[in-house]
Amino acid sequence: MHVLILGGTTEARALAESLHARGERVTTSLAGRVAAPRLPSGEVRIGGFGGTEGLTVWLREQRVEVLIDATHPFAGTISFNAARAADQAHVPLLALRRPGWVPGEGDDWHLVDSLPQAADALSGLGERVFLTTGRMGLASFAHLDTLWFLVRSVDAPEPPFPPRMEVLLDRGPFTLESERELLRRHGIEVLVTKDSGAAATAPKLTAAREAGIPVVLVRRPPVPEGVPVAATVEEAVSWAYADLERGRR
Ligand code: NAP
Repeated sequence: MHVLILGGTTEARALAESLHARGERVTTSLAGRVAAPRLPSGEVRIGGFGGTEGLTVWLREQRVEVLIDATHPFAGTISFNAARAADQAHVPLLALRRPGWVPGEGDDWHLVDSLPQAADALSGLGERVFLTTGRMGLASFAHLDTLWFLVRSVDAPEPPFPPRMEVLLDRGPFTLESERELLRRHGIEVLVTKDSGAAATAPKLTAAREAGIPVVLVRRPPVPEGVPVAATVEEAVSWAYADLERGRR
């Protein structure tokens, strides 16, 4: 079968690996945001499709039989495009989404729905902020000129960004020890992050809890209505085969 995986996550790479090892034709699509991405097994295409229409044409021309949206939980536009394109091209679609993080005892989480709301929520929580929401959303914090930000991202951010900022270029996985040390060394008073749910980046939440540091957590956007969701790579693989069977019957 030809499976198109919309990627950009650890799970998407694991899924490509799993289906490719079973002898399936797998193409992973990456947006092209990261300069040197970790490449998955199978075929890879890089760059946008040109909206819903472009993706619909691609699905038809490449005879895609199963589409799996394994993008980051916060990549909302491509997920909605995928839902519409799958509908138009009559291709079964599944979303692969790792579960979100769950607060534990001692956590001081402030839940918000967007980056601008996260910026508003910082008032009174602390002046030294550890920001791990990605380099693309820094404009929402650019007006906060009395706060200091430690920004961790894979590639260097471009303006607009906050005037008082230090950038740490790095990508997970991160350890609890290194996260504890980072918070301590920079005198961090508040953490801002998105509920990606990734194990590779969860240790910062534990380190924040231990240090009594509040966390401003941005909630996920919803998965498009009617799209089935798998929580694990194994579930997504089973679903892909079940759907393929149905399609060929
Ligand atoms: P987005 O807002 O949902 O998408 C914006 C546009 O980028 C889409 O309309 C599409 O362009 C293109 N695009 C996005 N993902 C694509 C993919 N996998 N393959 C081909 N084109 C894609 O997405 P985003 O938040 O900018 O994220 C971009 C990528 O980075 C995603 O694939 C995601 O998995 C990964 N990522 C995102 C985050 C995050 O926090 N948002 C974090 C880690 C990784 P066209 O309309 O031209 O098709």
